[in-house]
Amino acid sequence: MSGAPETETGKAAQLAFKWLWNQPEVTCVLSGMNSLLMVSENCDAAKNAVPGCLTADEEALISEIKQIISETEKVGCTGCRYCMPCPKGVDIPGIFHYYNMMYSDSKWTGRSEYAQTNALRIEPAYASLCVGCGKCESHCPQQIPIREKLKEADKALRPWPYKVAAGAVRKFMVR
Ligand code: SF4
Ligand code: SF4
Repeated sequence: MSGAPETETGKAAQLAFKWLWNQPEVTCVLSGMNSLLMVSENCDAAKNAVPGCLTADEEALISEIKQIISETEKVGCTGCRYCMPCPKGVDIPGIFHYYNMMYSDSKWTGRSEYAQTNALRIEPAYASLCVGCGKCESHCPQQIPIREKLKEADKALRPWPYKVAAGAVRKFMVR
């Protein structure tokens, strides 16, 4: 059980590890593993883990991936939830997830998934409930300007026809 990774996921994980180990500042990498195969693949990846281990082709591939991600991701939220809970009940990572989905999938997908999972909750979790206390931003490891991005996301996810429709549905269905 060693050698090149067997799956596409394993190959992607190995490239990500190599990128980390390629940084001279990184001395330790922690990874969640849930199978013996993952342990084996990670051990293989660690064997040649030194700064400068990335090949020119791998560096080019990573640049391409970064470019694609930056074009399709509106907020660099990893979903870690360190910013939660919000005292006003705002679903910060959920809102950013569906906002990003509007650009990685389609506007329709992002808005409709958001409507199904967030808009019809018994306790609303809209971005507009934010009172700007800033508690969340002090916990965000990605240093996201959460208050500003929430306003942007809310505008995109809930255009006025959506608000009218969601309000009507809530009135009759969510009690
Ligand atoms: S700034 Fe807004 S989203 Fe952040 S914790 Fe305060 S109320 Fe919640
Ligand atoms: S702490 Fe930052 S990165 Fe983590 S879920 Fe909250 S907004 Fe996203």
